[in-house]
Amino acid sequence: MTEASIFTRILQGDIPAEIVAETDRVFVIRDINPKAPVHLLAIPKTGEYRDVTELAAGDPGLLAELVEVASDAAARFSDGDFRLVFNTGAGAGQTVFHVHAHVLAGGLSEASLGG
Ligand code: 5GP
Repeated sequence: MTEASIFTRILQGDIPAEIVAETDRVFVIRDINPKAPVHLLAIPKTGEYRDVTELAAGDPGLLAELVEVASDAAARFSDGDFRLVFNTGAGAGQTVFHVHAHVLAGGLSEASLGG
């Protein structure tokens, strides 16, 4: 059996974190090391998908729900505009292999990607 991810342990209450939004299949917490004025993590409750490519292939409906929950959270905690980041693979900075979306919001217009 694979070890429970840090997010599963948070969901189970083994590691403290405030769940700021929740549906039957998705929950949202604040990132412990925020990289933006609003930095949330939207996470499927199931830990069976390591990254967004696995989630998209295995349960596209759950991916759509994750995006909807992320959008709702961005509207609640900021002005509704947000950046959604899925680090995918260690080389891209992924450290927790339980798929999660970084929801970055609040004063990001100056910090555009590229350009
Ligand atoms: P990744 O690097 O895998 O894309 O993102 C993992 C994120 O989880 C990081 O931004 C990190 O700060 C966050 N994180 C790691 N451990 C904890 C924790 O115990 N509590 C919370 N709230 N966030 C965590």
